[in-house]
Amino acid sequence: MAIGTICATWTDGRWHDGNVPILGAADHGTWLGTLVFDGARTFDGVTPDLDLHCERVVRSAATMGLDAPLEAGEIAELILSGVKRLGTDAALYLRPMIWSREGSVAMIDPLPDSAALAICIEDLPLREPGEFALTLSPFRRPTADSALNDAKAACHYPNNARVVREARARGFNNALSLDQAGHVAETASTNAFLVKDGVVRTPVPNGTFLNGITRQRVIALLRADGVEVEEAVLLPVDFAEADEIFLTGNASKVIPVTRYEDRVLPATRTGLRARALYMDYAHQTRRAA
Ligand code: PMP
Repeated sequence: MAIGTICATWTDGRWHDGNVPILGAADHGTWLGTLVFDGARTFDGVTPDLDLHCERVVRSAATMGLDAPLEAGEIAELILSGVKRLGTDAALYLRPMIWSREGSVAMIDPLPDSAALAICIEDLPLREPGEFALTLSPFRRPTADSALNDAKAACHYPNNARVVREARARGFNNALSLDQAGHVAETASTNAFLVKDGVVRTPVPNGTFLNGITRQRVIALLRADGVEVEEAVLLPVDFAEADEIFLTGNASKVIPVTRYEDRVLPATRTGLRARALYMDYAHQTRRAA
């Protein structure tokens, strides 16, 4: 599936136009689901935190038992070459992917040095803040000892997909999911923040959800702006009683929530401030370059 109309793929050592096949029918990763990936963005001529996204895909590969075929810096260079080759002003989604070609003698586990790398670049507009309804999902996150939560891996996403599918069927855009202890973890595709009495609060990383690159960037930017940000154990009631809720993730950066369950959240001031700080930061990376 291509999500955009512009698409380029790096595989087998070169760039190709379009959505070209990358997995072999007999690839270990096709069969047993070892594929890890990361998602970065380019828009307005900037690619904020591309280095961190490439470092994370290399770490995700290691968590999956794979030796990334290239170093993070080399992957970033390749991605930038692909963006240049496309020569478009469109906002792009930049996705490096690593998976196993071969399994070990036991077959279940991958051969580390059989890892393959592909990169896909597609156009994907940045979502602008607007109406956004959030609910609480009946589906939970696995514990760190029951899934490879440290890896950004494709195999996690069927669970996230049912979170968002179930939420959409009830008229919501996305849903908070809880960890096995009943603490709020994240949504199907973003990290979550709330604002209560002027303090920004977000779930403290506990190994059950992705400690997002955008999340960490936004925490640092808000703190530098003089806002108090607490990483804490949060319960559904904290979100139910929040003055504001906003979500962070690479795809859309910062999105204020305008409805939580049946409660309209009129205030989006802090969320919009966080978004503006993020966009300033992103645009400064070009001026510094
Ligand atoms: N949680 C999940 C499940 C995600 O898919 C994403 C998007 N990558 C995030 C959180 C946000 O992470 P990041 O800011 O690193 O994109």
